[in-house]
Amino acid sequence: MNPETLRYERVTLSPRQRARVVAIFSVGLIALAVLLRFGFERYYPTPRQVIYERENNNLRAEYVALNSHLQQVEAELAELRNRDDRFYRSILSLEPVPSSIREAGTGGSESNMHLRNLRKPGLVLDVSERIDKISNRMQIQSSSLENIYMEAVTNQQFLASKPSINPISSGDPIWLTSTYGYRNDPFTGKRTAHHGIDLAGPYGLAIHCTGDGVVISSETSRHGYGKEVLVDHGFGYVTRYAHLQEIKVKQGQKLQRGEVLGTLGNTGRSTGPHLHYEIRKDGSPVNPMLFFYENLTPGEYTQLASRVVPVENTYQGVAMSQK
Ligand SMILES: [Zn+2]
Repeated sequence: MNPETLRYERVTLSPRQRARVVAIFSVGLIALAVLLRFGFERYYPTPRQVIYERENNNLRAEYVALNSHLQQVEAELAELRNRDDRFYRSILSLEPVPSSIREAGTGGSESNMHLRNLRKPGLVLDVSERIDKISNRMQIQSSSLENIYMEAVTNQQFLASKPSINPISSGDPIWLTSTYGYRNDPFTGKRTAHHGIDLAGPYGLAIHCTGDGVVISSETSRHGYGKEVLVDHGFGYVTRYAHLQEIKVKQGQKLQRGEVLGTLGNTGRSTGPHLHYEIRKDGSPVNPMLFFYENLTPGEYTQLASRVVPVENTYQGVAMSQK
């Protein structure tokens, strides 16, 4: 329609105008195709999509199951940790592992960072972080148990080695004739320190080693102890058995608690048959009466301690009265 002539006229398009019309039409067509395709997919998924969807659901269910399984593992680990602190460690008087160490390195891990980029990281991230935490706690728990084991082994050796019995069997007749501490020397009458205890009894009574150890000396003393045996028990403990009648062990010999190392006698600077028994811890003498708990009941201990014969009474007198 030509507005000037008011007549219909045939429009002729230049080649360029024609090309533009074709282009616009093509773009429209493509846009329509794309729209249709996505619209179709939205309501009618392709078979492949159906498979993916199903797999996805299965995986999600797997993760949920895995998550609850991990909860169980966590609970078991917590129980182990509880037993570790309250039972195993307390038996060996070890401090509980501080929670700062137990929880160390159990925060989010760097290795999980890539998971945060997932479209829905929640479930996968949760499971992954849980596994990290459990693995860290397991390592801490494992090293704690290793410590406990070492402690128990050492403790066992210590308990076996520590002097802890009376060197004379509790059935044998003995008198405690001199206690540990200061006393008037039976020879000089001067007040001197007595570094052990004296147990008087009949000649030939078996003298027992009081803890596992190694004989470091078994000869006649140059200091008035007569025939004596010195035993090194490790852990700083050394015991001395002096004035023996007969020595039955050799230097370097390994002894177990209770083994006979000699017999009661009257050798050296002694006024009658008795055993001088001494315990040193890290070189310093300690009271042997405090180390008799293994083979002496509290009653027997009281009885022995109450039978202390004043040193003024001669050993000979004690030995005689024993007969
Ligand atoms: Zn003595």
